[in-house]
Amino acid sequence: MKEVLILGSTGSIGCNTLEVLQDLEGTHRLVGVSGHGNPDRLIEQALRYKPAVVGVTQGSAEEEVRRGLKNSGIRILGGHTVLCDLIESLDPDIVLVAVSGSAGLKPSMTAVDRGKRLALANKESLVMAGHLLMPAAKERGAEILPVDSEHSAVFQALRGEQHMEIEKIYLTASGGPFVDFPLEKLRNVTPEAALKHPTWNMGRKITIDSATMMNKALEIVEAKWLFDLPSDRIEVLVHRQSIVHGMAEFVDGSIIAQLGIPDMKVPIRFALTFPERKPSNRRYFDLTQCSRLTFEEPNPDRFPALDLGFRAAKEGGLSGTVLNAANEAAVEMFLKGSIPFDEITSSVHKVMEDMENKDAPSLEEILTADEWAREETVKCFS
Ligand code: NDP
Ligand code: MG
Repeated sequence: MKEVLILGSTGSIGCNTLEVLQDLEGTHRLVGVSGHGNPDRLIEQALRYKPAVVGVTQGSAEEEVRRGLKNSGIRILGGHTVLCDLIESLDPDIVLVAVSGSAGLKPSMTAVDRGKRLALANKESLVMAGHLLMPAAKERGAEILPVDSEHSAVFQALRGEQHMEIEKIYLTASGGPFVDFPLEKLRNVTPEAALKHPTWNMGRKITIDSATMMNKALEIVEAKWLFDLPSDRIEVLVHRQSIVHGMAEFVDGSIIAQLGIPDMKVPIRFALTFPERKPSNRRYFDLTQCSRLTFEEPNPDRFPALDLGFRAAKEGGLSGTVLNAANEAAVEMFLKGSIPFDEITSSVHKVMEDMENKDAPSLEEILTADEWAREETVKCFS
């Protein structure tokens, strides 16, 4: 029986993971969950799935969770180190990190330091600190299994293959809601329009990142670390149908792809059950219904964020951190209606131009750069 801890159980990936775990009853057991600012959902999940421990990261939500779970026998942990405390005290086999943003970094590092299987949805961890996480995983015998669908696809395509025989990998992108939108009107799109993703149902932040393609930019850096490939061996293709999630091309010209309906439960399940596959109550995938699969080169004028992703992957150091933090700050401002859509990427670009890079930064330097980039982004508009 594998014990599973979900960090960020109240989010989109977290909720999907809880459903997958119900299917895996005989082999996997939920031992802990965490939530941030949605105490009602956390209470409801705890009462339904009965983990031994519940962590609450947002101070103001803790009291409400304690009240809601009174007499339930479930232990509640709070405080700003709660995510790492959960890993240390529960000592689970698998830690699924599904919190959003840079809050995922420290728990990802703790999971790796303790030699756990890290089922990683939080791509920010690798974007910020791939140079710390990957060697630490090797040294501690920890496994890092991607939950991100494109990376899960590439991981599956590379199973049993030799690294030196990889020519390149392809990450697919749906193109988001504005793939055909008139370029000159992009400036005026509203948060509501940007939050309508054509194929995937996800959290708010990542949905905006899909509209700007900053999500793919972050995924380029994520892929570089996961698969140990330079940025020029990573390619992005617009694939509107979201059926082919990722591909690997080999030196002999063969391409291996992973296909399936767009459903995050598939990569989540694989990260939990690897190296095995377990049966699921999946939706039937009818190949005859998707006879047309299209692949296009992304237009750099429409998606300037992509170039920033390639740049961060190439430059390394603190550039992934700055890319991610500036973007988080800009997306937050866009969602509040304070800045126009096209200025998300242009402000990130400006902050990257102004940054001072450093090779192999420490965790402390990463966190300082993260804070700096957020402040600089806000300053772009003051
Ligand atoms: P959501 O916004 O839906 O969920 C985020 C989760 O993190 C919630 O449980 C939230 O708690 C918690 N959280 C938010 N802020 C903090 C914080 N400061 N400290 C601790 N916990 C916090 O996001 P998604 O599920 O969409 O995405 C989660 C991660 O997975 C992201 O890194 C994203 O890039 C990645 N990912 C997501 C995919 C998807 O399909 N959704 C696909 C591939 C990767 P609460 O809700 O209680 O406030
Ligand atoms: Mg993805």
